[in-house]
Amino acid sequence: MPENQTPELEIPANLLPSDGRFGSGPSMVPHISMQNLANEAEKYMGNSHRKDSVRGLVGNLQEGCRNLFNLPADWEVLLGNGGATLFWDALSFTGIKKQSQHLCFGEFSSRFANVVENTPHLNNPERITSDMGTHPEPTANPEVDFYALTQNETSTGVAAPLIRPATDGLVGVDATSAAGGMLWDTTQADIYFFSLQKGFASDGGIWLACCSPAALERFEEVRKGRWSPDTLDLHLAHRNSIKQQTLNTPAIATLYLAVQYSNWVLDNGGLEWAANRSKTTTDYVYDWAEKYELANPFVSIPSERSPVIATISIDESIASATICRIFRKNNILDVDPYRKLNQNLLRFGLFPARDPKDAKALCECLEFVIENI
Ligand SMILES: *Cc1c(COP(=O)(O)O)cnc(C)c1O
Repeated sequence: MPENQTPELEIPANLLPSDGRFGSGPSMVPHISMQNLANEAEKYMGNSHRKDSVRGLVGNLQEGCRNLFNLPADWEVLLGNGGATLFWDALSFTGIKKQSQHLCFGEFSSRFANVVENTPHLNNPERITSDMGTHPEPTANPEVDFYALTQNETSTGVAAPLIRPATDGLVGVDATSAAGGMLWDTTQADIYFFSLQKGFASDGGIWLACCSPAALERFEEVRKGRWSPDTLDLHLAHRNSIKQQTLNTPAIATLYLAVQYSNWVLDNGGLEWAANRSKTTTDYVYDWAEKYELANPFVSIPSERSPVIATISIDESIASATICRIFRKNNILDVDPYRKLNQNLLRFGLFPARDPKDAKALCECLEFVIENI
């Protein structure tokens, strides 16, 4: 149905969720975090990132990650500007020695493999693929010095277990939409990296990476043997991060909002609490979709369904794009599926910051729109 023919449909106010921002990234930033930022802004915004107030924020975020993820004492939390996309570039300069293996099962995991493929000083990456809506398994390969895993493929809503292949080689995990909403085991990874505008309920612009001693050694070793631009030099990022600094000026509000998130989770009992909270929300939506005749979970194997992002197939008789447009007019935002999947889907970012009660509201709104369209 073309845009100008979208039926006018007003969803009754009593059905609406408490917050209409359902995007998978940027995701909903809690009202209270924004309020706190507004109240405290002058302590941080417009302050030097080389002085105590902003360095204190960086330190709080690093400490928050140590506690949330229960990092071993010899791990470091590195950060810099440019988000996860820039971190892929950095890995291609100072993380991967010669060859990487990538589990490709959606847009983001494939994009990292493309970065490596286009990097002149690296061999072609090994790609292991699987059908959209599933995930592949890593396999040990003696040629490979870096295994690229993705804990949650944001484009499809597939979660994959993090399992270190039985071989040498660093394990680097793109946890951009998983971090802060899914548990992980530090023995299975060397680099756990993410941006802050998804599970951490903050804003864009910063990458953060929890790194094992083996990863830190790798950065130094690779940098010694190969030129790198400073912005992609992870050994340099390490040297700045241990001083609670970034190479260049960071996005200060992003740091502030991320600290709000990690404090909120820690105050409520930690990562397990947060992971359970979003799983409750997504389970509700998956159960609804299984029971409702005009919908279905897109990911067919229940254990592979993301606990933070629910992708739902809608019966062909109703265009999901029409639902998106009606939702938007009713201030339920950004539930469009990942654009390249080309199927009749809706996708909901349901990270821990979301009140689980909104799951019921969301499903009621969906039924209302589908039945009154
Ligand atoms: C969003 C996302 C990225 C890209 O993050 P940016 O901050 O936009 O660079 C990378 N990987 C995954 C899994 C993502 O969900």
